[in-house]
Amino acid sequence: MVGPDASGCKGFAAPARAAARGLAAAGQSPDHRRGMIGPDPEIEDLGALIEASARVVVFTGAGISTESGIPDFRSPGGIWTRYKPIDFRDFIASEEARRESWRRKFATEPTLDAAEPNRGHRAVATLMSRGPGAAVVTQNIDGLHQAAGVPDDRVIELHGNTTYAVCLDCRARYELAPIREAFLADGTLPVCAACAGIVKTATISFGQAMPEAEMARARAATLDCDLFLTVGSSLVVYPAAGFPVLAKENGARLVILNREPTGIDAIADLVLHREIGDTLGAAVGVN
Ligand code: NAD
Ligand code: ZN
Repeated sequence: MVGPDASGCKGFAAPARAAARGLAAAGQSPDHRRGMIGPDPEIEDLGALIEASARVVVFTGAGISTESGIPDFRSPGGIWTRYKPIDFRDFIASEEARRESWRRKFATEPTLDAAEPNRGHRAVATLMSRGPGAAVVTQNIDGLHQAAGVPDDRVIELHGNTTYAVCLDCRARYELAPIREAFLADGTLPVCAACAGIVKTATISFGQAMPEAEMARARAATLDCDLFLTVGSSLVVYPAAGFPVLAKENGARLVILNREPTGIDAIADLVLHREIGDTLGAAVGVN
C-alpha cells in the first residue's frame, strides 16, 4: 500500500522518502547524504522533490491566502462558520438572495482589497518561473497569485474571480465600482445593459456549472505534470478536489501541504502539516 508511514504520521511513504533523500543527496556532502546536516528534513524533502521535477502544478485553496488576512472557509472563525453559502439556484430565483449576495460581497470587499500576496504566493510565483509546464490551478477567487507576479496565462481559476462581474446570459464583463455605488445608494441590483440578464460576480457558486475551459486546462496541466503540489485546501470541494487524485493516478509525485489532515493524505508521497508561507518559502528559497 502506498501511504504515510506505519504510525499514520505525516511524512513520506518509506520508498518515496528514500527516493527523495537520494535526490537531495545528489551533489551534496557525505554528511548531507547521511542526513546529519540540515535541521529540517521535511523542508529538504520538499525541496528535493521540487528540484527533481520538470513540470510542477501547484493546486491552491483558501489556506494559502489566510496569511494575507483573508479568512478561509473551514478553519475556526472562517467564512463558513459565519455565512451559509448562497446556492446558485437561489441566486437566480430570488431577488432577496441576490441582494444578500451583493451585501456580503461589499461587506468583505475591504478585506480583499487590503490583502497583499504573502511568502507562500511569492514562492509559488518563483516555482512558475521554472519552466513552460508549470501552472497554478487555484480554487481561490482573490487574484493574489497574479498579484504576486504569476502571469495570467499560468493561473487557472476553477472558481472564478471576485474582482469583477459578468452577465450570466451574454457574459459581458462589468466592473464593480458602478455596481457598488448603485447598490449602496439604494439597493439597486445590477442588470446587463446589453441583454437585461442577471449580473453576478465572476465567481462559481455552489450549484453553478464549473467553467469548461478552465476545467479542461486544469486537467491537461494535471496530466502533464510530474509534481503536483496541493497547498492550503481541505480537499472537500468537488470537482476541484479530484485533481490531486488524478495527478497521483497518472504517475506524478503528490505533495500535500496543509495545516490539518485531508482525506487523501494516505496516497501522497509527502504530507506536511505545517504553515504554508514559511514551509514553501524555505523549500523554494524565497522570503
Ligand atoms: P478550505 O477553507 O476548505 O480549506 C483551507 C485549508 O487550509 C484548511 O484545511 C486549513 O487547515 C488550511 N490552512 C489555512 N491556513 C493555513 C496556513 N496558513 N498554513 C497551512 N494550512 C492552512 O478552503 P478550500 O479547500 O479552498 O475550499 C473552500 C472554497 O472556498 C474554495 O472553493 C474557494 O473558492 C473558496 N474560498 C476562497 C477564498 C479566497 O479566494 N482566498 C477564501 C475563502 C473561500
Ligand atoms: Zn448580458
